[in-house]
Amino acid sequence: MANSKYEYVRSFEQPDVLLPNTWIVVRIDGRGFHKLTTKYNFEKPNDRRALDLMNAAAAGVMKELPDLVAAYGVSDEFSFVFHKDCTLFERRASKLTTTIVSTFTSYYVFLWPTYFPTTPLSAPLPTFDGRAVLYPSVRNLRDYMSWRQVDCHINNLYNTTFWALIQHGGLDSQQAEKELMGTVSSDKNEILFSRFKINYNNEPDIFKKGTVLYRDFTIAPTPSQESASTDPAPSQAPKVVVPTTDSTSASTSTPVTAARTPPLSKTAAEKDRKRRLKARIAIEHIDIIKDDFWDQRPWILT
Ligand code: ATP
Ligand code: ATP
Ligand code: MG
Ligand code: MG
Ligand code: MG
Ligand code: MG
Repeated sequence: MANSKYEYVRSFEQPDVLLPNTWIVVRIDGRGFHKLTTKYNFEKPNDRRALDLMNAAAAGVMKELPDLVAAYGVSDEFSFVFHKDCTLFERRASKLTTTIVSTFTSYYVFLWPTYFPTTPLSAPLPTFDGRAVLYPSVRNLRDYMSWRQVDCHINNLYNTTFWALIQHGGLDSQQAEKELMGTVSSDKNEILFSRFKINYNNEPDIFKKGTVLYRDFTIAPTPSQESASTDPAPSQAPKVVVPTTDSTSASTSTPVTAARTPPLSKTAAEKDRKRRLKARIAIEHIDIIKDDFWDQRPWILT
């Protein structure tokens, strides 16, 4: 492109390249969702349709960005984890964050009618903010994920009790808030059980644990995702196999642990990208604090 006298303004741009070899978490959060939930009459404390919509939008983001290894969502927020080797947009923070936010928002709005067929959207439309945070070790990254899931648990126990006091106990919101002031978890469990016969443990996992998404290489892609035939899905853990993307290969599986050993050559990186693009996105509501989740899915953080 020809140089113009205006070209110098480019030098005002601030570099925002993120540290290499570091896990990148982009967390997005719905803007003013307290108001939005009232506007669209979300069921309180948990509107299942809204959670399913959040998860569907996150799955769309995971599908479009193969550099993402996992995502965790609760309420109106989602955290997306880029692999520490990610080189997308030369690791520019603003590019990564804005791409996640806009891709997520597009899916959220596009899929809205699927989850709220009788409630059309109207302005102001749903929007999300986002930030990128770096975590230098797997320990730090896992502690981050644990932090969000603990937050989910604490908030959900509070909200479940708060709304039980209102919906079944006839209290108004101020009375319910007062009732819960200074209570600890066991008090809330007790209120739920003794007054409302609600056993918190029996609440749906999606409410208690939030949602984790990851690429599931243990199951072959559906025929629509891959035309070449693959072995049927292995049935029990810990059989860790991936469907190969190499059509000339006789075997359809390779050990997952061999997948990401940096530095990858250009062709190997491209092959890995394709493999990631084809993988099924698993959506689960399980504990990600204990080691089990990560031990059973070693490919996520390797
Ligand atoms: P901000 O713009 O600062 O994020 P906010 O109103 O979005 O403001 P949050 O702290 O993000 O504040 O809280 C999200 C709100 O949306 C909470 O009130 C939460 O209960 C509500 N919410 C989110 N998801 C659901 C859902 N699936 N069902 C019912 N309520 C929900
Ligand atoms: P990147 O993701 O790097 O931005 P890009 O394909 O979007 O890749 P741009 O440099 O942003 O590359 O260029 C935008 C492209 O879209 C150009 O090819 C431009 O001609 C085309 N385009 C944008 N708006 C229009 C339009 N209104 N009509 C026709 N073509 C358009
Ligand atoms: Mg916010
Ligand atoms: Mg919010
Ligand atoms: Mg929030
Ligand atoms: Mg462009």
